[in-house]
Amino acid sequence: MREAHAHIAQLGRSLTMVDLSGCSSRDEALEMLAGRAGVMSGDQWVLAHGARPEGWVDASGGGARWMTREELDEACGGRAVCVWCFDYHALVGSSRALKLAEIDGGTRFEHGRVEVDGDGAPTGLLLEHAALALWGAVPEPTEKERHGVVRQACAHLKALGYDEVHDLKAQGWLGSVLSDLLAAGEVDQRFALWALREDLDALMGTRASWDDRVALGGMKIFVDGTLNSRTAWVLERWADAPEDRPFGTAMMSHEEIEDSIQFAKEREVPIAAHAIGDGAVRAVLDGIEATGTQRTGHRIEHAELVDASDVARFVEMGVVCSVQPCHLLADIEALKRGCPGRLDRVLPLRELIEAGLVCGESLFFGSDVPIVRADHRDSVVAATLRRREGMDESEAIGFGQRLTEREALACFGV
Ligand SMILES: [Zn+2]
Repeated sequence: MREAHAHIAQLGRSLTMVDLSGCSSRDEALEMLAGRAGVMSGDQWVLAHGARPEGWVDASGGGARWMTREELDEACGGRAVCVWCFDYHALVGSSRALKLAEIDGGTRFEHGRVEVDGDGAPTGLLLEHAALALWGAVPEPTEKERHGVVRQACAHLKALGYDEVHDLKAQGWLGSVLSDLLAAGEVDQRFALWALREDLDALMGTRASWDDRVALGGMKIFVDGTLNSRTAWVLERWADAPEDRPFGTAMMSHEEIEDSIQFAKEREVPIAAHAIGDGAVRAVLDGIEATGTQRTGHRIEHAELVDASDVARFVEMGVVCSVQPCHLLADIEALKRGCPGRLDRVLPLRELIEAGLVCGESLFFGSDVPIVRADHRDSVVAATLRRREGMDESEAIGFGQRLTEREALACFGV
């Protein structure tokens, strides 16, 4: 099978992080973090992921909320701590972590936010680019650690049945590390790597020495945010978004999208665009059209909402649609709250196939691991049932868009 949307190094790293996805309360999460802090030495960071505070029950009756910076300080003895939200678009940092990242209550981000309390001090919660700024202060795996991190991730994916893996945010060093591991026989899969604009030249610079099983994909861009944070860029206003951004958050302007496609074109590579909302999807298709780069291998990642008038454009313009149906399983309630009038536009897979996309060739399935687990069965369930197992058919999202199991597997290249 092919896993068309993974983050290999992040997965390798997450396999060693504290996993909070099974926690049912904030106290339970704090206890797990304290346990990890207790067995760590020196200045090591406590790293955790999988937090889903919306689902936490609060024993004190105060309502589900994130832990604060002070609560992390107390639980982890003043260490640097970073607790990722399950979707990797928000995190909570401890006081020491914020200090190391040089973030205080007055730090501003164009596409991010530092949450502050009544006195203007940071609560620890950081969103989008503010979260990435703190993550940037976490020491990178050393050159020696990189091989171990990547080896672990590849073994994990291999065990799930993936012999081809696409990395959608490859570091400049990933091609070399994978090639080393392939040459040593420690990894045995095929890879395609897509890097951010700032990493693309570094990645391409090492290409001459890559193993045959590693291929360059192209350049990754982020056009909008996420569904759960209501930062996905949508054509019809969210039913429950903050008043100042009813259509979500465009992370790039039309000009910036065209400029990025041009930058990639100069390097003779296509782009893969993170576009979750139908507004973002349309902006990317418009950008490809405006730059005259149809049929050059461009991909749109996620495409959770696609307007009816844009469906055929994927086929006409030769754009690959790379989706992760597994997210639907967790997003059903959020979709019903956020876009009750647009549920028929969620992952319109049947329409995309009818328009001419071919399962496994121009319609890919993946997971976005480690944001969710990479088990292909989750996407098969989501694509065929359009709801979680055990739910009534009336609860399904866009039931008319369902695929057969055969088609869903074909999207994994089976
Ligand atoms: Zn991703």
